[in-house]
Amino acid sequence: MEGAPPCAPAIPTGVATQPAIGPANTIRLTDPTDLRLQDGVTDILMDRIFVSAIEPPEEDGQAAAWWFVFRGMELLVAERGEQEAEIPLHGDLADLTVPPVRQNYLGALSGRHCYAVEVDPDFAPPQGLAFRGLRSLYGRIADELFVVAGRAAQIVEWDRTHQFCGRCGAPTEYAPGERAKRCPRCGLISFPRLSPAVIVLIERGDRVLLARGRDFPEAMYSTLAGFVEPGEALEEAVRREVREEVGIELTDIRYFGSQPWPFPHSLMIGFTATCATDEITIDGREIVDAAWFTADTLPPIPPKLSIARMLIDSYLAKHREEPLGQP
Ligand SMILES: [Zn+2]
Repeated sequence: MEGAPPCAPAIPTGVATQPAIGPANTIRLTDPTDLRLQDGVTDILMDRIFVSAIEPPEEDGQAAAWWFVFRGMELLVAERGEQEAEIPLHGDLADLTVPPVRQNYLGALSGRHCYAVEVDPDFAPPQGLAFRGLRSLYGRIADELFVVAGRAAQIVEWDRTHQFCGRCGAPTEYAPGERAKRCPRCGLISFPRLSPAVIVLIERGDRVLLARGRDFPEAMYSTLAGFVEPGEALEEAVRREVREEVGIELTDIRYFGSQPWPFPHSLMIGFTATCATDEITIDGREIVDAAWFTADTLPPIPPKLSIARMLIDSYLAKHREEPLGQP
């Protein structure tokens, strides 16, 4: 399937605090280290404060809304120095002088409406605003908004790439009442695309198996991951990926948690597992190196708040007394 195995840093989940929304256009940056692992990564904030919806509100347009404006995978933000950035918060998109190519209502974050907007690839940002890659904004915009931005990116991408029916080629229409597009000629329904991928932390005794992917930054090691194939259960995908990549047979596969990964439309499903033998046979294609490490001999690992890092941190919590120095 497309892209590298999604072992790389993903978007944040598990942040248990609500956003501190102050006066219009200001929001306090949530501490990116405020990860509540004890809540589990499935206890994501989206359930608590984001209410998904499809039909836009029938309002006068005066209430300030979050506008997630995408030019490709770049998001429109107001930068506040190097550390912080803000999502535009305005009553009307016209206030921002942003001409939408397409627009979707997403729902409400803590009562504020959220919209996903696509602009032309040549569109220049308005004065005081800038387009920045979504990944680069992790830690610069509030975590709650980053999660909604990931959702917005996927809706924009789906809308952009489903303008025509995949079966008969006719122009599609929005299906009323659901997040779907419908072909008026042949009736084909197209929902936003999700590509599930499994990711697994393998432990044996006090050691953990980490691997370096072909496309990883130099020296970084992570947990094994791969896309689920059609017809495959998640546990089967875990077994197959690990067998293919490092030649190990797993036992005791347990669900850990999940995390959306909007680059462009994955859903990471995390597991832990053990194995009977520690002999590794590297496939040499997707994986260029793999080895067993202890909590005190870890190589560089993915940054915090990816599910890969959450898995590794759960291992460290059991086997290490001092916190790891890596960000
Ligand atoms: Zn059709």
